[in-house]
Amino acid sequence: MKMESKKRIFVGLLLVSLIIFTLLVYYIWSLTFNQRTFLNQIVFIVLVVIFMGIAFLAAAGLAGILLTILNVPLYPSWQKATRLTLNFLYPFVIQLGKMLKIAQDKIQRSFIELNNHLVCIRNMKVHPSQLLILLPHCLQLSNCPHRITMNINNCQGCGRCKIGPLLELAGEYGFNVKVVTGGTLARKEIESIKPKAIIAVACERDLSSGILEASPLPVLGISNQRPQGPCFNTQVDLKIVEEAVKFFIK
Ligand code: SF4
Repeated sequence: MKMESKKRIFVGLLLVSLIIFTLLVYYIWSLTFNQRTFLNQIVFIVLVVIFMGIAFLAAAGLAGILLTILNVPLYPSWQKATRLTLNFLYPFVIQLGKMLKIAQDKIQRSFIELNNHLVCIRNMKVHPSQLLILLPHCLQLSNCPHRITMNINNCQGCGRCKIGPLLELAGEYGFNVKVVTGGTLARKEIESIKPKAIIAVACERDLSSGILEASPLPVLGISNQRPQGPCFNTQVDLKIVEEAVKFFIK
């Protein structure tokens, strides 16, 4: 699957997080020698060990990310550790981005790119019935009278929004497709369909949280286009969706 190269924002922030952790470990370590009681020293040593573990995890994950970007094959266990690191450090990176005044959606877009890259290198193939596409409700034309959240087949395929063509695509390939109004409904659909792979279309914020929640399920995230502003008559590039479907289906 073709991807844009926006990964460097997240990778850069991961690197800064790693440097901060390392400095923190060094600082706590230096404080250990100033403790008067044995108990205090033990507490500080435990803290050092915990932070060193996090720093090591971040370093391994960062190395894994850099190697996969350079197309160096990783052992499946290292791939898994890299994914875990990415998910685990996500909140730290977001906080760091806030402190550095980097726009949240830029960081989230970068995270989605990295996630998609890690999903792609797994090269996982599934039966169409094991693939679920989750679509946001705002993809439906706002004045369409048909209720599609309960049943997407209520769409009449009039062609005024992308729901119709996506439904046609589902008919052609045989994958599951659902329209969801938020995380709760998305979780419910995942629980009932039990897919092995997911393609999600949404805004960067919802995609990032969805990817984290669905982990370890592989999720390819596709950002929607919002020509009329957020959550209103949004669009999606059908070619990118089809490309993602072809990537997953056997
Ligand atoms: S394609 Fe379907 S959902 Fe979209 S406006 Fe037409 S009937 Fe409504």
